[in-house]
Amino acid sequence: MTDQIGTEQNPLRAAIIGSGPSGFYATEALLKSGLDVRIDMFERLPAPFGLVRNGVAPDHPKLKEAILVYTRIAAHPRFNFLGNVTIGRDIGIEDLRASYHAVLFACGAESDRRLGIPGDDLPGSHTATEFVGWYNGHPDYRDREFDLSSEVAVVVGQGNVAVDVCRILAKTVDELKHTDIARHALERLAESKIRGIHMLGRRGPAQAKFTHVELRELGELADCEPVVKPQDLNLNSASETELADKRNRTAIKNMEILRAFAARAGSNKGRRCFIRFLESPVKIKGKSRLERLILAKNRLEGEPGRQVARETGETVELDCGLLFRSIGYRGVPLPGLPFDERRGVLPNVDGRITDAQGKVLPGLYCAGWIKRGPSGIIGTNRADSVATVKAMLADIEAGGIDTSVKQGAQAIYPQLAARGVRALGFPAWLKIDAAEIACGEAAGKPREKFTRTAEMLALLD
Ligand code: NAP
Repeated sequence: MTDQIGTEQNPLRAAIIGSGPSGFYATEALLKSGLDVRIDMFERLPAPFGLVRNGVAPDHPKLKEAILVYTRIAAHPRFNFLGNVTIGRDIGIEDLRASYHAVLFACGAESDRRLGIPGDDLPGSHTATEFVGWYNGHPDYRDREFDLSSEVAVVVGQGNVAVDVCRILAKTVDELKHTDIARHALERLAESKIRGIHMLGRRGPAQAKFTHVELRELGELADCEPVVKPQDLNLNSASETELADKRNRTAIKNMEILRAFAARAGSNKGRRCFIRFLESPVKIKGKSRLERLILAKNRLEGEPGRQVARETGETVELDCGLLFRSIGYRGVPLPGLPFDERRGVLPNVDGRITDAQGKVLPGLYCAGWIKRGPSGIIGTNRADSVATVKAMLADIEAGGIDTSVKQGAQAIYPQLAARGVRALGFPAWLKIDAAEIACGEAAGKPREKFTRTAEMLALLD
């Protein structure tokens, strides 16, 4: 027993759950804390990097460069990786609490918000998460089927994920074949019959959530023309007020781009991406699968900056064979931890996890999307993780954390072995990584991802 954590005799043992941006930024902050720390990062897949590997679109390689930073962090001698281990199934929260001074959950938002309308789950209606996971080669979504044989696809929502989905549906094989898109997805997309892609916003053009760089890309595609109705860009006075605020830079830029799209002369490109506003799906119809969408026409109500969509009573119909609901991610509960069902996050105060009554649970922390909800870009998670680590260090300083010596992974490995779980270290990942890169080379791709856990384990044998 020693009363100080973070010394050679009693190093700070921290478990980080999740290997996406938030997990790595928390690791970085801990390694820079000046304390003697030993970090074990748990990841349920054999491959690390969370949404950077499985969420960022394959045609956005610049965003994936964050992986280089994370790989450098992982090379630190006080960092240890346990891939292929699912917390809550292979190892329980109490097992972690017994072996670590601090457990930090950075497990992101793995599920989706629901539309909650009739027909939500008809075949042909999918979440954006499934499609994104599928084209990115996420093992969970590897075997999903998307019927690309109809001419019209609809994407509900106007965030950057919706734009990613539209762009992947709109691009030609030539535009995708030198990216790290999963082979199975490229093969299926090559046969796609989709000609019209409709991206639906429930509010107006000034309230769209996508950012202008992503929006602009929709006007630069080889075989797809963006279509915006000029009359859809007529703004009410509250929206004009929103745009008059110079801080609203994204919306101002978005409007410029949308106006330029609306003024385009048209083209003979093979596909059209219709960017539509003030429409909400109210019913998904079809006998045994999706055939038609009923859309309510909306108007905006409320103060500038707080306008909400209200149905006008008018509806329109849209025939379509494929639908993606891209209306935001949502965290999933972990066995043994409290959960805020309304917000889809772990209840917390400044990254300190609390129980249902708001009482802090000592030694339990969270960062990233499971802490604040699914918002911001990759870099946003850095400040967020630093803030949580700051809270953790303050708790250690204030004596709020059990100071007994902890065993960390040394206590965890035997439990995993007893349960027949094969934990993979970072060197194992580097081997998988090298094989993926080698495999991609022949096809002129940065990598050809392994899309099944069994394939990755077999490679290591
Ligand atoms: P998001 O930005 O929150 O957008 C969600 C969209 O869904 C909004 O247009 C929202 O409209 C709409 N929506 C929500 N509930 C709805 C409902 N019931 N009916 C109709 N529409 C509904 O979420 P996201 O696109 O999933 O992105 C998550 C985060 O990742 C964002 O911060 C995003 O910027 C980031 N991201 C970044 C990139 C990139 O940098 N390239 C790529 C992908 C994702 P309201 O505004 O009316 O709520």
